[in-house]
Amino acid sequence: MPTEHTCSDRKEAAFAEEMAICVLASGSKGNSIYISNGRTAILFDAGLSGVEIERRLNSRGLSTGSLQAIVVSHEHSDHVHGVGVLSRRYGLPVYINRKTAGAVAKIGNVHQTCFFECGVDFTVGSLRIHPFSLSHDAADPAGFTINRNGIKIGLATDLGVATAMVAEHLKDCRALILEANHDPQMLIDGPYPWPLKQRIQGRTGHLSNSDSRSLLSKITHQNLEHVILAHLSETNNTPDRAVSCISPVLAHLRTHLAVAIQDRCSDLFYLR
Ligand SMILES: [Zn+2]
Ligand SMILES: [Zn+2]
Repeated sequence: MPTEHTCSDRKEAAFAEEMAICVLASGSKGNSIYISNGRTAILFDAGLSGVEIERRLNSRGLSTGSLQAIVVSHEHSDHVHGVGVLSRRYGLPVYINRKTAGAVAKIGNVHQTCFFECGVDFTVGSLRIHPFSLSHDAADPAGFTINRNGIKIGLATDLGVATAMVAEHLKDCRALILEANHDPQMLIDGPYPWPLKQRIQGRTGHLSNSDSRSLLSKITHQNLEHVILAHLSETNNTPDRAVSCISPVLAHLRTHLAVAIQDRCSDLFYLR
């Protein structure tokens, strides 16, 4: 990683205030989430190739040139694969915490490194971001909330256990992108070697559908507009299983439930 620079707000333009979310990819082969309020657009993780991220952004009418930053959650390659290429090609600062930067292997040089610390807010353009610690087998993995004008979006994938602190951070979000990695029985019955099954189930692994449901049951509220289930295993889960496990928690609400998948980007979800 290169030396640290002073980070500043970039490329602000006047657009109507509206938060947009697009999950470009989600799963063990690559993760990337686009969030914008029309003035500031950020990628959370870039775990596909730079070319593929560009292609998926373009498929939703979004341009890579409008991005202001890449924020990295943790060093696993399904989250960082395209970070270096995109940062260099588009002059994007990379927001990352120091332990993750120390542990990451494959980013190469980046345009600019901006260090954040879990628990301490930072801003990118007009968006305020709160990073918080997750329990996962990485150096210093982070979830995030993104805040703008009272609209709060929560991101939490790659966590083995949803602690009370995680639930606290994700309260009052208008949109949640939440891990629903595996169906526990499919994992047990599935083809993975036992040590990998143990890792996935463990406290530093991934949230199961039922873990996700129990977390969600603590943080739903009348103004929760979107829940996007993410980081589903293609081997140990199906979108139908995840939805049938989790949707009952939302039955009394008008919340829209979606599932992000690996092979194509989600719809654009808007918060106004
Ligand atoms: Zn991951
Ligand atoms: Zn991970």
